[in-house]
Amino acid sequence: MTVSGCPTRRETGRIRGSTVIASHSAAHPETVTLDNVSLRFYDTRARQVRDFTPLHEGCVSLYLCGATVQAPPHIGHIRSGVNFDILRRWLIHRGYAVTFCRNVTDIDDKIIRVAKDEGVQWWEVSERNQRAFTYAYDVLGCLPPTVEPRATGHVPEMVELMHRLIDRGHAYAAEDGSGDVYFDVPSYPEYGELSNQRVEQMRTGEGDERDKRDPRDFALWKGARPGEPQWPTPWGPGRPGWHLECSAMATKYLGPVFDIHGGGIDLVFPHHENESAQSKAAGDGFARYWLHNGMLTTGGEKMSKSLGNSLLIPLMIRRVRPVELRYYLGQAHYRSSLDYSDEALQEAAAAYQRIEGFLTRVAEVAGPVPAGAEVPADFAAALDDDLGVSQALAIVHGHVREGNTALADGAKERAAELAAELRTMLAVLGLDPLSEQWAGSGAESAGMRDVIDALVSVALGQRQAARARKDYAAADEIRDQLGAAGVLVEDTPQGPRWELKRG
Ligand SMILES: [Zn+2]
Repeated sequence: MTVSGCPTRRETGRIRGSTVIASHSAAHPETVTLDNVSLRFYDTRARQVRDFTPLHEGCVSLYLCGATVQAPPHIGHIRSGVNFDILRRWLIHRGYAVTFCRNVTDIDDKIIRVAKDEGVQWWEVSERNQRAFTYAYDVLGCLPPTVEPRATGHVPEMVELMHRLIDRGHAYAAEDGSGDVYFDVPSYPEYGELSNQRVEQMRTGEGDERDKRDPRDFALWKGARPGEPQWPTPWGPGRPGWHLECSAMATKYLGPVFDIHGGGIDLVFPHHENESAQSKAAGDGFARYWLHNGMLTTGGEKMSKSLGNSLLIPLMIRRVRPVELRYYLGQAHYRSSLDYSDEALQEAAAAYQRIEGFLTRVAEVAGPVPAGAEVPADFAAALDDDLGVSQALAIVHGHVREGNTALADGAKERAAELAAELRTMLAVLGLDPLSEQWAGSGAESAGMRDVIDALVSVALGQRQAARARKDYAAADEIRDQLGAAGVLVEDTPQGPRWELKRG
């Protein structure tokens, strides 16, 4: 059974933090209609930027290869989640109903190995790490997937897909009785089209196969070894191959043909090549656009295990706030590689604090600022063009600079106008500090801010009184004491203002 790519419960309209509120064009006449949307994405298979037209008007179906839950996630694992969350939010903002399927690979060699080493069941390892991934996605403000299927819950769909491939002459069960089922690579001449390789020059697949006809053939299904978890099939008991599960789940939830398949660039070969080959050989259209995010590196190299352990999400959000970590992970173009350093992380946190600082100052002089009606045209153009987040952030910071100048000039209305647009842009990026997701995430949570404000006002009143009687030593001491408590006081033409020191 397949489900249409456009569900009845649509995720459309404007995003307020993690809450998606449906809107209607009558109520929001300024909302962009689909007629004037010109989205373009770099499609890995076409090796060029292509105009995006969805299969069904107004709907986008999106599949993302999610976690293999063999260990808890470090920031390298979660970058893809943040990148594709921004894509999804932009599609929603553009008025599309998005069905987002992100799978969980809950069985593989390493999960079995970890379970054996710890003397626990494989599912205990999967459960524990899946919870760690869910926490990481949530804490970084990624909208939950429309559906998050697990591999082991979809064995019947995989068996059905293998039947189709065997019937069409593109797969075979190993003759050694091992229960392995292989995809027959030479039977499918288009193999290599996604990763742009010629089949005769390809390296061979994974190492543990038993009775393959051709070294390039890859396992759809792995026959059971003694003591390993297993599920029955007509070819013998075993467990899912990694590639097969994604094809089976994408097709089940998004249909035989769907709009966008995403994942890290390291998955292009063999994983995505194999997904594409087995689905197309079975007669499905499969993904129409392939989008791949760049890797997170350290010192220009792939992240080592030990370094990865120091970059686990719970540790990272002690160094910076979750919203600052999201800013850091999302700021570069999704296709570029992001080289991690502590300095770059701190710079990103400081850049985000400049945005927050401006919104706080505007609220102080002009009252609460509601999010604006629509994003600026140049911001929209940047995101339409292969999700140009770095260009979009340049426009965000331009607004902050212009807004600060307006505040300094006493142009409150202009500052408030810029702040409203700023909030709309930040919401699309999942970074609006005043959204439901992030409000109260920092030290300045709403209630505490009022309490601190009252206490600081008392101290500032005493400082003012000390100055009035020309007791500058006492006035400076009050300021220093506030500083020691983490309250920075700044004298402005409008009187003293304060903010909390960060970090
Ligand atoms: Zn996959």
